[in-house]
Amino acid sequence: MATVGQKVVLITGCSSGIGLKIAVLLAKDENQRYHVIATMRDLKRKDKLLEAAGDTYGKTLSLLTLDVCSEESVKQCINNVKDRHIDVLINNAGIGLVGPLESIGIDEMKKVFETNFFGVIRMIKEVMPDMKKRRSGHIIVMSSAMGLQGVVFNDVYAASKFAMEGFCESLAVQLLKFHVKMSMIEPGPVHTEFEMKMLEDVSQKEYPGADPDTVHYFKKVYLPSSVDIFQTLGQTPDDIAKCTKKVIE
Ligand code: NDP
Repeated sequence: MATVGQKVVLITGCSSGIGLKIAVLLAKDENQRYHVIATMRDLKRKDKLLEAAGDTYGKTLSLLTLDVCSEESVKQCINNVKDRHIDVLINNAGIGLVGPLESIGIDEMKKVFETNFFGVIRMIKEVMPDMKKRRSGHIIVMSSAMGLQGVVFNDVYAASKFAMEGFCESLAVQLLKFHVKMSMIEPGPVHTEFEMKMLEDVSQKEYPGADPDTVHYFKKVYLPSSVDIFQTLGQTPDDIAKCTKKVIE
């Protein structure tokens, strides 16, 4: 349970990759400034996290089950948090999808949006009313460099992150007057299970009609935004965890 002065930080998708590293880094904070609620959809996958977290489990780290694709699971998870008090929500859970559009079924595409887009919205909808009431809170969304610029064969994944960026920029304006802050982190490629799977998918499939010599030119106009946006050159989950900690501090 959190002690006085500790920030309660709830993180989604902590069974592997970036989420796991953020949870461990915050739980091991030398000044014990955070109580981390690490969530994952299947607690059978908790061993890697607990091993890395050492003796912080039961002190600055606790675990809850959470599937961001299930409204019931989201509600149950937040109801299990003492007084529903969350200072920082880190929306990290996400899935990728790679390949030419012809090879991907609509159901697979919907799953990406269910997780990366609606999953985040489900969490924010559940947590936001309490943050607004307390007039404090910080919502962080793990977006991607692909939320700003599309990448070949990543059409649907990039679209899910683009959608999230638009959603956050719009919501941030409404949350400002309640002193609830929104931030997005936009990593480039990071070496995790996620990236391994993406590379595997690309290298193991044949994509007829795909021209590897095609070069595309993009022009991006950046607009002022109410969301704090953090880009990073970090390539490991540890780098992104450190970046996320700086965003909270
Ligand atoms: P991983 O695949 O290592 O981790 C993804 C995490 O999300 C896993 O813990 C997974 O849990 C969880 N997850 C998936 N679906 C759900 C769900 N329905 N409910 C709850 N949790 C779920 O990937 P990364 O650590 O690399 O990715 C984390 C975030 O960073 C994602 O949002 C991704 O889009 C983003 N990102 C990643 C980049 C990269 O190159 N790796 C680059 C830019 C952004 P489970 O074990 O149950 O599958």
